[in-house]
Amino acid sequence: MISSKYTIREQNEAKILNFIIQNKEISRAKLSELSKLNKASVSSITKKLMDIDLIFETRIGDSSNVGGRKPIMLSFNKRSSLLLALDIGYNYIEAALAYIDGTIIKSISQKDKLISSENAISVIEETVRNLTADLPETPHGIVGMTLAIHGQVSNEEIIFTPYYDLDQLDLFTELGARYAFPIYIENEANLSALGEYTFSSEYEKLIAISMHSGIGAGIVEAGKLHLGKDGKAGEIGHTIFQPHGKACPCGNSGCLERYGANEVIYSELRELKGLEKVNSDVLVRYYEEKDPETLALLQKYSDILSVGINNIIMMYAPEIVVINSSITRKIPITIDFIKERVANRLAADVIIKNTSLGENSTLYGALAFTAQKYLNIERLKLAE
Ligand SMILES: [Zn+2]
Repeated sequence: MISSKYTIREQNEAKILNFIIQNKEISRAKLSELSKLNKASVSSITKKLMDIDLIFETRIGDSSNVGGRKPIMLSFNKRSSLLLALDIGYNYIEAALAYIDGTIIKSISQKDKLISSENAISVIEETVRNLTADLPETPHGIVGMTLAIHGQVSNEEIIFTPYYDLDQLDLFTELGARYAFPIYIENEANLSALGEYTFSSEYEKLIAISMHSGIGAGIVEAGKLHLGKDGKAGEIGHTIFQPHGKACPCGNSGCLERYGANEVIYSELRELKGLEKVNSDVLVRYYEEKDPETLALLQKYSDILSVGINNIIMMYAPEIVVINSSITRKIPITIDFIKERVANRLAADVIIKNTSLGENSTLYGALAFTAQKYLNIERLKLAE
C-alpha cells in the first residue's frame, strides 16, 4: 500500500487549494483577487498543486473583458487520493473507502458484531483488507484512515469507553505499526458533527447530537471541532437530568443518557410488551400501529431529549442542531415533539433536524477528518 509522498504544508497553498475546491472551476486571475496574493505567487502555487495532481486545468474560460486574454480554468482533482473510514460501535462496524471528495467507492457494514479489545485489531484488519482488495489507481493512494470510537478520545488515545473495553487498547500504536498511511482516532459524535459540516451543511456553527447506547454531542465552528480538555467537551449524555437518579457508568448518577438513550427506550418497550428483543424497527412497528403506550413512550423520550438539546443550545448558540439517531430518523415526528419542547425564545431561530447524511454521518465525518488533515484545510466544505 502506498502512503502519500506529498503534504500540503504551506498556508498559502492550502488557501489557494480551498478556493479552487469551493469554486468548482476558477481562473488564476480570480484566485489572485480572492486570496490577495500576487499573480506570480498564485502561478507558482497552482503549478505545484498541478505537479502533485491535486488540481488540473479544465478548459479555456470566457475572457472577462473585450480583447482580454482568455483564462485557463482550474479544478480540484477529486480522484487524486483515497480515504478510509471506520465507525466502530460496541456491536457493529461500518466502514468505507472513498475518494478525497467523499465519493464512496466501497462500503462494508457488519451489524450485531460485538467488538472488544480482544477482537478489535483483527476485525479492523479484515475490514481494511476487504475494502482495499481492489484499489482504484490514484496518484497518491490511501492518504489516511480515521476511526470513530464511541467514547472519550484525546490526541489519538482512547481514554474512556463506557460500553466496550477499547480503552484497554493502544489502537493508534497497534495500527500505526501495520499501515503505512496516517491513522487518526476521534470520538464518534465529534466526527458526526464534522461530517455534517463538511458534506451537508452550509452553516458554520453546528452541533450534532448522536444517540445510540449513550448520547454525545459534537460541536463544530468554522470547521474546527470544539474538543475541550482531553476531548471531554460535548458529553451531553452525562449532564444531570435527575439529581440522585439512576447510576451511570461514568461514576455519577442521574445522567441524561440513563433516561434518554435509545437503548433505554428499547428496554422500556421490551418490559412493557414482554418482548425478547427491541430495536428501532420493533419500535417503528408499534408506532405505526398507533399503539398508545408506544406513543406515550415516544413523547416522554422526546421530552427528556429536549432538556439536553435546550441546554446545549443555551451553552453554545449554534445555528443548527442535527440529530443522528435511528429513532428520530425512522419516526420523524419525534423531532417535532422535541422542537415543541424547545420553546425558549433564545432558541427560536435555531434549526433542529435529522442529519441528512442518514445513518452514515459518522462515517462521512471520518472521511472529512482525514481529508481535512491531508489537505490541511480546516474550513473544508465538500458538499456538491
Ligand atoms: Zn454519566
